[in-house]
Amino acid sequence: SRATLFDAENKVKITFNDVAGLEEAKEEIKEIVDYLKSPGKFTKLGAKIPKGALLVGPPGTGKTLIAKAVAGEAGVPFFSLSGSDFVEMFVGVGAARVRDLFKQAKEKAPCIIFIDEIDAVGRSRGRGAMPGANDERENTLNSLLVEMDGFATDSGIIIMAATNRPDVLDPALLRPGRFDRQISVDKPDIIGREAIFKVHLKPIKLSPDVDPKKLAAQTPGFAGAEIANVCNEAALIAARRDREEVTMQDFQDAMDRVIGGLEKKNKLISPDE
Ligand code: ATP
Repeated sequence: SRATLFDAENKVKITFNDVAGLEEAKEEIKEIVDYLKSPGKFTKLGAKIPKGALLVGPPGTGKTLIAKAVAGEAGVPFFSLSGSDFVEMFVGVGAARVRDLFKQAKEKAPCIIFIDEIDAVGRSRGRGAMPGANDERENTLNSLLVEMDGFATDSGIIIMAATNRPDVLDPALLRPGRFDRQISVDKPDIIGREAIFKVHLKPIKLSPDVDPKKLAAQTPGFAGAEIANVCNEAALIAARRDREEVTMQDFQDAMDRVIGGLEKKNKLISPDE
């Protein structure tokens, strides 16, 4: 149905305050906020505003979050869709969906278009296992390239895309005038994890023994999404234990649970390990 073509959020509430760590990525991305807020500052000197930026990093590190924060900071609408939605699409539907998205975005400009998992549509062309099997995906990719080339750099549309597989992307996507900027959004180090814990601990009623530094030290390898998950699990566990406050013990149990879940997921992905 039309309602599921893509998501559109007119008033985005997320700002850079919601994005912890990722200082370098935030610095680079602040430039995009400027392009959206004061395009004239750039165009009057003859500069061409970039059309797209590619956010590169593992799952759950905050790529969607940071893209949304750009829209929130600039006060512009946020259109989003996921590359994986295009897989197994009927003939012509993917390309039509892309055209429709850009048409609506142009009407709402300035705005952000966010394409999650762009590798699902953006894999290099002609790499298919079966001849013909990838035609529809390629049609979708071609229509994306046509749309990206078809709007002027000062039209107020900035396209952000996310991937954890930049190596498989069709080089055509990375040409100047398309996704010519890459911003890495990596897993947090201990300092970053502490900052992310602090963001997600804010709404929780904490016992004084809860120490974000200790939590960060005990969660090496966790991405932001897992840290958010730990915080919520801990609150759920504490509530089930009829506590008035969430304790360090509840966090301990929540971490064990999240680590257990991650291990299970890894087993499913690589069954012969
Ligand atoms: P995917 O590639 O799986 O789509 P992603 O990189 O887009 O992942 P997000 O969807 O942005 O990750 O992150 C999921 C959630 O994890 C966020 O909504 C937020 O609650 C939390 N999170 C992730 N990174 C951060 C961060 N740097 N600061 C604060 N919260 C974070």
